[in-house]
Amino acid sequence: MESARNKFTREIVEAEELWQLPSVDRNGYECGSCGMDVYPASYQKNNLKRPYFSLFHFTDHRDGCDVEGNKKTVAKGRKGSVRDELETSPGLSPSRLTLRDERVAVDPTLPVSSTQTSSTRSVRSDAHEEKARPVGRRAANTIRPICRAYLNFPYDRSMSLDVPGIDGKTYLSAFKKLGAGNKGIEQFARAQIFYAELAWPKAHEDEESLLIPLSAGEWSQERKLVRPYSVRVCWSQWSKYKKTVVRNEMEVVREEGIKAKKKNPKDRAYVFFIGEQDESDPTVFNVSDHRLICGLLGTLIFVS
Ligand SMILES: [Zn+2]
Repeated sequence: MESARNKFTREIVEAEELWQLPSVDRNGYECGSCGMDVYPASYQKNNLKRPYFSLFHFTDHRDGCDVEGNKKTVAKGRKGSVRDELETSPGLSPSRLTLRDERVAVDPTLPVSSTQTSSTRSVRSDAHEEKARPVGRRAANTIRPICRAYLNFPYDRSMSLDVPGIDGKTYLSAFKKLGAGNKGIEQFARAQIFYAELAWPKAHEDEESLLIPLSAGEWSQERKLVRPYSVRVCWSQWSKYKKTVVRNEMEVVREEGIKAKKKNPKDRAYVFFIGEQDESDPTVFNVSDHRLICGLLGTLIFVS
């Protein structure tokens, strides 16, 4: 499972967020749909595999759990519209991005229960209310579930999407593939969720930033990428935990892309981000928030 609910904060946590935690509570999570206990796996910071949540041995999801149904919806969604399912599933196709208040950074000296999320929201007092099945599409706390929905549901990109600062209010209009149409390096006047294939070389890091090379930009006649776009993650003010999330995800998606070459050549490693095009160098996009960048493996389908 890609996400689970934190038992203490009642927040839905994406597995990648585990990289951000100073310590991970193996007994702190439950299925976001049915409430069955699940455990976090593959979250070690030096483990180059994407984290996930899994049921404990000899247990199963409770009756009425959405997890299996959601898998079927994702499979169906690659072949045609699954709009009705998406309208009534909370997590498959988020309706908006809402960044949580992160006034206090994760502090390893805090008690465990309060360090389990990147934010310091208090425990909800109305936790019992969510026993009722949530209806409708929920908000995402990072762009990752939104980008996953963009890849997963090519026939449903007319679904509404509200991302602060972005004019396009559907999936289709909010996203922009860099290098599409072979126009060389373009100047983008408005903010969008930009994405491109990750280039093969590793990202370069120093104190100030992480520079991620993209496989998009200006190509020569000989089909060589002569001026590539890149993403500069400006992280000089970040905690080491936030840096870990972005560094690990970029490295993991790179590995996933290399492996996919043999297994499923249509799958590609994509970097998605919301960033500002650099004023002096239009090949560079500056990203300043770890929740506004992610790396996902997937097959990109365009529907005309
Ligand atoms: Zn479940």
